[in-house]
Amino acid sequence: MGSQDKNKKPSHWRPGWDEIDTILLDMDGTLLDKHFDDYFWEHYVPEIFAKKNDLTRREARKELLARYRSTEGTLAWTDLDYWSEKLDLDIPALKLKIDHLIQVHPYVIDFLQYCRSLNKKIHLVTNAHSKTLDIKMRKTQLGPYFDRIICSQDIGLPKEEPTFWGRLESMLGFDKNRTMLADDNENVLQAANIYGMKILIFVARPSSRAEVLRSEKFPSIVYFNELIVERL
Ligand SMILES: [Mg+2]
Repeated sequence: MGSQDKNKKPSHWRPGWDEIDTILLDMDGTLLDKHFDDYFWEHYVPEIFAKKNDLTRREARKELLARYRSTEGTLAWTDLDYWSEKLDLDIPALKLKIDHLIQVHPYVIDFLQYCRSLNKKIHLVTNAHSKTLDIKMRKTQLGPYFDRIICSQDIGLPKEEPTFWGRLESMLGFDKNRTMLADDNENVLQAANIYGMKILIFVARPSSRAEVLRSEKFPSIVYFNELIVERL
């Protein structure tokens, strides 16, 4: 299928697995339900912050959302130590309190097993902080499926920076023409595209509580079973 067809019918795009030997996967929203993160930052933390600072929940939420926005697209946004210090709360401990909300999206395990059966290299590539990563890997047990797990901290840049992908390529030694990246953040896919990566998949339903929202620019999937091609 040509690239024009991909753009016209993103949702019907199917991978040519013979042309792919490395798979890069984002964590939050892509493999795991983003409902946990949304609930944690937008509801749970404001509730605790309100109690601690004698604010109404609405006031706390308003203040925190503005603070979050000012760090979007930077490493500070995902840095738990940064937020623990700024908010004077033990953010990792709070995450653990609601870790029952950390869930793997449907078909993710099937997809990881499928990629393993095709002998592909699989790397987890996340902006998440190492402490978040630890909590989530412990809870989901997904760790053993990956050849490598890379945090943006290791690279020193967030995935939204095109330079990130060059540094990652040097670190992992993949061929950018034979590498697939799946992410629920269009800005990340755009940065990888600028760097020269071509096989880019947008995850259109990062949270189980949100509607499907497909990308206009990149082939979109709702669940990873769409990328599993049965061999006859
Ligand atoms: Mg994500």
